[in-house]
Amino acid sequence: MSLMRRIFLLSLIASLSLVSFSQTSVKGITLLIDFEDLPADLSVDRINDLLNDEGYTEPAVPSSVRDYWKVQSRDSIDLTYDIFGYYRAAETFATYETMDWTIVNDIVTAALDSVVANNPDYDWDGLTTHSAMGLENEILSVNVITTGWIPGSGGAHWSTDWTAPNGYSLYGFTVQPLTSMWDPDFVRLFTICHEIGHAAWGFPDTYDYDGSSFGTGFYSVMSGNQVAGEVEPIGAPFFRDAGWVDAIEIMPNSSYSLKQDGKSVAIYFNPADDKEYFIIEACMSSTPGNAAFPVERGLVIWHVDENVTTLNTLENMTFEEHYEYSIEQADGNFDLENGVNQGDAGDIYVEGSEFNSSTIPNTNWWNGDESGLDINSITFLADNTIRFCNGECSDLGLKTTLSKFQFTLYPTENNGQFFIEIPDGLNDEELVFSISNSAGQIFQTIQSKPVKGQVEIALNEDYTGMIFISIKNITGENYGMQKAVIR
Ligand SMILES: [Zn+2]
Repeated sequence: MSLMRRIFLLSLIASLSLVSFSQTSVKGITLLIDFEDLPADLSVDRINDLLNDEGYTEPAVPSSVRDYWKVQSRDSIDLTYDIFGYYRAAETFATYETMDWTIVNDIVTAALDSVVANNPDYDWDGLTTHSAMGLENEILSVNVITTGWIPGSGGAHWSTDWTAPNGYSLYGFTVQPLTSMWDPDFVRLFTICHEIGHAAWGFPDTYDYDGSSFGTGFYSVMSGNQVAGEVEPIGAPFFRDAGWVDAIEIMPNSSYSLKQDGKSVAIYFNPADDKEYFIIEACMSSTPGNAAFPVERGLVIWHVDENVTTLNTLENMTFEEHYEYSIEQADGNFDLENGVNQGDAGDIYVEGSEFNSSTIPNTNWWNGDESGLDINSITFLADNTIRFCNGECSDLGLKTTLSKFQFTLYPTENNGQFFIEIPDGLNDEELVFSISNSAGQIFQTIQSKPVKGQVEIALNEDYTGMIFISIKNITGENYGMQKAVIR
C-alpha cells in the first residue's frame, strides 16, 4: 500500500484502540465482479457459504470468514455479508491488467451503481457503519471479489466518492479473488481475512515489504502467508487494539494466569513511554486458525514500539532500525528477522523457558534500558490455562529466595523418587512436605525429619508431569516451594 494510505492507517489504529466492541452483529456487503475473458468461476451460493455459513469447510478452507472472525474476536463479532450477483466489468481482464491500480476505484464505483440499479428495495440502513469511530455514515466493511488478480487486488483501499441511496458512503473496501495467486485450484481465505483486518478493523501490515525478513511470521494474519491452507490468528497487539481482549497490566513480583486463546492478554509498559510495551498471549494449536502454531501450547511474547513509523520493514534489531511489532523468539535464533523461517517451535515460551535481562533475547527496551520484566515459572495448568510469574511470586513460591532458608531438590527430573537437601538451621526440625500437581491439587503429604541433611521423597502413586512441593514446619511456617518433573 502507498505511504499516504499507511499514514492514514496508523492514525486509524490510534483511534481504534479507544473502541471497545461487545458481542456485536456486523453486516457488510460483498460485490462479485467478473470479466468477459475471465467469467465467474465460483457460484454465488458457494461464495455465500465461504463468507457466511457457520461450520462451513472445504479443502484448504478450515472455516468460513464469519467463523474466522468469531473465533478471532473472542466471540465479540458476528460478521456477515450481503452478497449480490456478479457484475460484468466494462473492459476485459486483459485490458485492466495493463492499467494502474487506481482503476479499481472506477470498477468498484460502477459495480456499486449496478447494485443500486438492480436492487431498488435493498435496505442500506441495515449495514454496519464505523459509528464506533464517529463515522456514522461510512460502511464498515465492503469486499470486492474479482475472478482474477487485477491491479489493486490484494489491497484495502480508502477512496471513492460513491454514495449509497441512504447517504452512506464507503469507508474503505477490499479487493481480492478468493483463489490463491500461486495455487489457483483452491479457494483460500487468507487474503480476504488479511484485507478485512486492514479495512474493517484498522490492523497494520506486519510483513517486511521488501521480503528480506519475515516480520511476525505465522503468528499474525497481518504478516502470515497461507501456511497449510490455514488463516493465521490476529495476534495479541491487534486483539487489544480492537478491544476484543482485556489487557492485564503486569506488576512486579506477581503471577498471572492466561486462558489459551481466551479473552485476556498481559501487558508490560515502558514507564518512560507507553507506546513501547511487551504483550503476552497464551496460545494453543487446537484453536481454529492456529493449525500452524508450532507447539501444543505456550506463550507468545510480543515487543511493540508504536513510535516506529516504518512498520516491520527494518529488521536490524537496533534502536534506530527495528520492527514496530517483534515476536520474541525464545530460542534466541531471530529466525524471523534473519528471514530463515516464518516461525518454529523454538520461538514459543513453554515450561522451563525464562525471559529476563540476561536471556537471549532479553527484556531490555529498544534504547537498551533494562525493563525489569522477568518472566519465569511458566506452568501449564489443567484447564487450558498457562500461569507465569514476573519476578518473585510468593503465591507460587517457586523461587525460594523469599524464604530465609535455601532448599535444593535433586534430581529435578526423576521417576518419582528424589531428595531435598535441608539447610543447616533446620536439621533437627520436623518438616511437612505437601506435593501438588500443576492444577494445585495436593495428592500426597509427608512429614519427616532430615537424615544426614536431607529428606528422601517417594511418590506413592504413578504420576508424570510437573509437581510442586511446598515445605513448612509443623507449626505451619512457610519455607517456600520446590518443583520437579516426573518422567
Ligand atoms: Zn496488507
